[in-house]
Amino acid sequence: MLLAKFLQTIDNTFIGRIIDDKVNVLKSINPDRFYVENVRRFYNLPSSVAKVFCEMAVREGYFKKRFAVKCPNQECGRIIVSVDSPADVPDYIECDICEALERDEYCFSYDEVEIEPYYQISRERASSRKEASYVR
Ligand SMILES: [Zn+2]
Repeated sequence: MLLAKFLQTIDNTFIGRIIDDKVNVLKSINPDRFYVENVRRFYNLPSSVAKVFCEMAVREGYFKKRFAVKCPNQECGRIIVSVDSPADVPDYIECDICEALERDEYCFSYDEVEIEPYYQISRERASSRKEASYVR
């Protein structure tokens, strides 16, 4: 009875809302593509701290940093390609969708496209940890 009252109290206060928000953030996170904003919201951190957190996770091998190259056409905005480094973005890049839809512009230079960093959960790190637990 006391536990039920406790849980009801949590649910009715800001703590319940924080928990709900964390559940919603978790549900919306794609382990193959998430952003500093997802981490910021989950841990309720300032953006600068969340960014440092992500970069530390990359250095420790928990996250892999990648870069999404986005089509600059406003009505498109889709990710044309993902690369490991901005240096891997070709000088010119074509958006197949915009070309197929016969939009005036579908070939863009490096300077025209938006390059947005994102993170993935590192599979190598996850599998090496699993192997380590088998040894014990
Ligand atoms: Zn496009």
